[in-house]
Amino acid sequence: MSALQRGPLTLYLNALRLRCPACGGGPAFTSWLHMLPSCPTCGLRFDREIRGYWLGSYTINLMATEAIWVALCGAAVVATWPEPPWTALEFGSVALMIVVPFLIFPWTKTLYLAVDLTFRPAEEEDFTAPHEAGFQLPRRRS
Ligand SMILES: [Zn+2]
Repeated sequence: MSALQRGPLTLYLNALRLRCPACGGGPAFTSWLHMLPSCPTCGLRFDREIRGYWLGSYTINLMATEAIWVALCGAAVVATWPEPPWTALEFGSVALMIVVPFLIFPWTKTLYLAVDLTFRPAEEEDFTAPHEAGFQLPRRRS
């Protein structure tokens, strides 16, 4: 494991804190919906310069929303059995599908970045110098 790579547990814990998964620095977000282009501490580019990079984050958001819906709806059906309030569950489900993706949005971005860093560790070219234009990271001697 290189100095640029943290263990998976550290990556995911940093992501759950909405910090840069690689270094734990931050903040990674300027607002609930706006992530910085790179980490202000270590300079890791959050989109890793790949087109469509955040599709993985949207997939995690969709899967997490559906899992939360199944858990809440299932609990409501079990709790109110034998006569579940189907109409309330229907409208509640629609509201849940609108609200939950917004509520979990930042975590799905940092968690996806942690997943990506787990399988594709950061390399020197994934980093920009934080807050210093023209600064370059020292090259690794081979
Ligand atoms: Zn960082």
